[in-house]
Amino acid sequence: MAAEGDEREALRALVGQLKTNLGARGRSGLLGVAMRSGSIKSGTLGGSRAPREELARAKPALPHAATLVVSAPTEESAETGAPRGAEGLKLLRDDIGDCQRCKLAGGRTNLVYGVGNPDADIVFVGEAPGADEDARGEPFVGKAGQLLTKMIEAMGYRREDVYICNVLKCRPPGNRNPEPDEVASCEPFLKRQLAAIRPRMIVALGKFAVQCLLRDDAPISRLRGNFRTYEGIPLMPTFHPAYLLRDPSKKKPAWEDLKSVNAALARVGVTPPNPAAT
Ligand code: SF4
Repeated sequence: MAAEGDEREALRALVGQLKTNLGARGRSGLLGVAMRSGSIKSGTLGGSRAPREELARAKPALPHAATLVVSAPTEESAETGAPRGAEGLKLLRDDIGDCQRCKLAGGRTNLVYGVGNPDADIVFVGEAPGADEDARGEPFVGKAGQLLTKMIEAMGYRREDVYICNVLKCRPPGNRNPEPDEVASCEPFLKRQLAAIRPRMIVALGKFAVQCLLRDDAPISRLRGNFRTYEGIPLMPTFHPAYLLRDPSKKKPAWEDLKSVNAALARVGVTPPNPAAT
């Protein structure tokens, strides 16, 4: 009788533990991401590594588990056959020209195309140029830009090792949020930029850029830290450096996001040129 009681107690404890784990997974939404042989597969539950057999049991109830592929760059864009790298970016810039495709053209000082390595492994994408960027014609050059540069350096890269651009190439008046017709007019340029660079990873900066690229209006606090894809390229949503200046307590989670990017890239053999800085 005592042995039967012990067995029932052990069974109860096991069921309780499973309920706890499944509850934790439900709150976290998307599973943590791990990469193996060029693909990123679900790997953590509720912030802790789950035993293999538990993952196997839980699998049927996990429709949102991410499977992402970090593909190797090719000499031509897979979608268009257009040239890649510097030549592709120059062709696109020539095509954009003195763009008048949306109403933001009338208010700009400079069109802010993008800057950095045309063969970059990582592309950082923000929302739109601000006043400093509009004046200089370069993305992320104000205080937020200086913080972004520090974040890039903390990852072990120099600013010129990566590529930096925005969803919109012209400044919205008064730094208001971009409007849908402006995004519709300008986003094809971003897609062509990415097709030319063909990065291994996109880091989307801030609520607007993240929501726009992912077509997902969930709060940035929920989207950040979970890998998604854009145009077939793995994308890490994180906070905008301007937001980090306003709320320094968010720097720690933002740094966790950037470390996840480095870890994911390292699994396909992409390491920063200055890993000692990380
Ligand atoms: S925001 Fe984009 S689409 Fe609009 S005028 Fe500038 S470059 Fe053209």
